[in-house]
Formats: sequence, C-alpha cells, structure tokens
Amino acid sequence: MQKADAAVLGAGIVGLSAALHLQARGREVVIVDRHAAPGRETSFGNAGLIERSSIFPYLFPRSASKLIPYAFNLAPEARYHLSALPTIFPWLWRYFYESGPSGAARIFAAFRPLIEQCLSEHGPLAAAAGAQDLFRPSGWLKIFHLSSTFDAGAREAERLRSFGLAVDILATQEFLNREPHVTPPRGALHFLDTASVTDPAALSQAYLDLFLARGGRFLVGDARTLEQEAQGWRLKTTQDYLFVYDVVVALGPWSDQIYRPLGYQIPLGVKRGYHMHYTPYQDRQIFHPILDADHGFLLAPMARGVRLTTGAEFADRDAPPTPVQIDRCEPLARKLAPLGDRLDPTPWMGARPCLPDMLPVLGPAPAHKGLWFNFGHAHHGLTLGPVSGRLLAEMMTGESPSIDPRPYRADRF
Ligand SMILES: Cc1cc2nc3c(=O)[nH]c(=O)nc-3n(C[C@H](O)[C@H](O)[C@H](O)COP(=O)(O)OP(=O)(O)OC[C@H]3O[C@@H](n4cnc5c(N)ncnc54)[C@H](O)[C@@H]3O)c2cc1C
Repeated sequence: MQKADAAVLGAGIVGLSAALHLQARGREVVIVDRHAAPGRETSFGNAGLIERSSIFPYLFPRSASKLIPYAFNLAPEARYHLSALPTIFPWLWRYFYESGPSGAARIFAAFRPLIEQCLSEHGPLAAAAGAQDLFRPSGWLKIFHLSSTFDAGAREAERLRSFGLAVDILATQEFLNREPHVTPPRGALHFLDTASVTDPAALSQAYLDLFLARGGRFLVGDARTLEQEAQGWRLKTTQDYLFVYDVVVALGPWSDQIYRPLGYQIPLGVKRGYHMHYTPYQDRQIFHPILDADHGFLLAPMARGVRLTTGAEFADRDAPPTPVQIDRCEPLARKLAPLGDRLDPTPWMGARPCLPDMLPVLGPAPAHKGLWFNFGHAHHGLTLGPVSGRLLAEMMTGESPSIDPRPYRADRF
C-alpha cells in the first residue's frame, strides 16, 4: 500500500495545476489518471487561449435571431443531437434560466475574480516549468463579415475597455496589417491582454514534469476504484493500492463518476467540440488565433499546424462523434485563410465540462470529509486551471482564500 497526503484524480490542466499548488504548500501529492500521459483529454485539443479578456462568460443566447437557427440546427457555432434532447433538456433549461438578467449579473460578478488572475497564475508555473516558449503573447482576433455584427462587436470592445481591458477595433486595412494573408473581413477586434498556447498537451506535460521534479508521483489508475475508509480514502492503481487523507476530483467531464455514487446531484453537462489540423503555408501564415464570429469557428496557429476548433455540440458525453461542424466550417475556413491538407486521420473530439451557470465547482464536498471538488471549467479550463488550483489548495490547507469561494460551492444548485 502506497501512502500520500493527497491524491488528485485527473491529469488534465485543472488537476495538474491543483497538484502543483498543493505541493507548493508542503503536501505530498500523487496524481492519478487512467492515461499514462497527462493532458490527453479535454486539455489536449482546445483552442489554446488564456482568455484574460473573457470577463463575460458564455451565456445562453436569448435573442430570436440566435435561437431560431439553433432550434433548427442551422447555426455553425452550436448544434444538438435530437435523440439526446430528452436527457439534456433539463440541463439546457437550467442554463437558459441561469442566463437571465439576474443570473447573468451574479455569474459575471463570480467569474471576474477568477479570470482576472489567469495570466498572473500561469506565469510563475510556466516560468518554473521552463514552458514560456509555449506562450504566444500576441492576443487574439475576432472578425466580423457583417456591418451589424461588427457594430455589436465594437460596442462589446467599448464595454471591455471600461473594465480596463485593451481591445483594438480594426477596420479592414488595419486588420490586414496584422494578418496580411487572411481574406479581408468587414472589421475585427484585437484582444491584446490575452495569451495563447501553441501546444496545450505540451503545457500539461511541462506542468507534470515540474510536479515530478519537485518530488510528486504520477500513477495510472481508475478513479472509480475510490473507496472511503475510516481515516481517509483508498484507491487502486496499476502499481498498488494508494491511501490518502484528501482526494481532489479533477476529472473534468467525467467527475460525475465519483460524485454521483456518493449521492451528490450536481448538474454537470457537456458542450462537445472538435478540432482538425491543416498544413500551414510557410509563405502565407496566420499569426494570431482568429475567431470568425459570424461563422462560429476558430483558427489557431499551433505546433502541429493550423488548428480549426468548433463551437458547442449538445449531446450525450459518450455518444459517438458527429463532427458535422468541422465539415460545415472547413470550407468557410479555407475561404478565410490559407489551409493545406488535413493532418489528422479523424477530427478530435472533447467535451467542455459545464455547470448551468458556467462557473466551476470548487471546494469541499459537503458531506464527505477529505473529498474536494475542482471541475466544470467549461470554455475556460486552460485559462483557469492555475487560478482554481491555487484557490482549492488554499482551502485545503486552511489558508485564507485569495478569492471568495462561495459562488463555486458544490451545493449552490
Ligand atoms: C474545442 C474546445 C476548445 C476549447 N478552447 C479553450 C480555450 O481556448 N481556452 C480555454 O481556457 N479552454 C478551452 N476549452 C476548455 C478546456 O479545454 C477545458 O475546460 C479543460 O481542458 C478542462 O480541463 P480538466 O482538467 O478539467 O479536464 P480534462 O482535461 O478532460 O482532464 C480530466 C482527466 O481525467 C481523466 N479521467 C477521466 N476519467 C477517469 C477515471 N475514471 N480514472 C482516472 N482518470 C480519469 C482523464 O483521462 C483526463 O486526463 C476548450 C474545449 C474544447 C472542447
């Protein structure tokens, strides 16, 4: 039987960050994942944005111009499986409800302290891990093809500026000065406070290497073998049984595998998403992540090639992939930017772990001593991993929390 102070279940960006923060507070920590390498699931295939400027979480749209195309599955940025509707409808209704005016104000207030710290929390971890080269400080671009959407974008930029964020509003020629090989849009926003990562899987590996170099252990095992004992928790790994006093559930979209059998009813849903890589043209590169706001896809220059990522697919987490959005967006992306051949044999699929208020669950499990939750980071897990890791480690070690944790508690629903 191996022993440690704490086990972190899940080696995605959220679990890795929490493990590093616990370790920095003197805890002996073991990370357990079903894969032998870190960051192989949702943290693998995202768009790579460390989204400092995203202070307004992604709420359920309420305008008819958005809802009608969604209802008929015609919007490129969101689609749903009709067969999954009976299962996911209660969650969608709750998401719609939470996105109403009073919910939105509460969510905004709770989200902002997290997002404000995202770059300042990644910075020291990346420096200690020698991973600064993975970070590209060039911000990201949001482009618009229609005057109406560009005007709305410009209003969004003014609102962000009022919160001290740096956003350039670019007319066509100004945009082309920054991205000369992209088909000119009607206009664009350039979010300057944001960084992006050129290889999210390599970042997870760098954070794991740092954790191991500082004396941490990484074991392969199935989190579902977790059992409570009189003094703590026991888990089976491929090497041995592991006994710990504290357990952190950082299993992203699979976190229900632990909390549900223990009796918690937490409304965790998923927004699935896809990616595909394309060969870049050396003489006609793109230099920033570019979100096509009117067509709902994002192109990001990555280590492997140009990565096209899609919007949300509402479906059962485990249903077979249906990468319709890749097929719909690829021709639009090819019109926008120079893209060579497809590089992946099939589109990658991930599942953003989402609570209906788009805030994570972060803190103690109300009815189980030594059980801690850290999941549900939705569209912003790469961004928020280190922030939530710090906050959780502060709570677990009795430090006064740097952010009020009450909005993220497990029993808020
Ligand atoms: C298309 C797309 C684009 C995105 N773009 C961005 C972006 O630009 N910026 C951003 O901040 N976020 C983005 N996100 C969201 C972000 O990727 C997620 O919020 C984040 O990766 C969640 O991290 P996690 O560690 O909680 O989960 P995961 O990375 O999924 O990690 C969970 C871990 O648990 C392990 N696990 C599961 N079950 C078991 C078990 N039974 N036993 C042992 N281990 C188990 C898995 O193997 C995995 O390693 C995007 C997501 C998608 C899908």
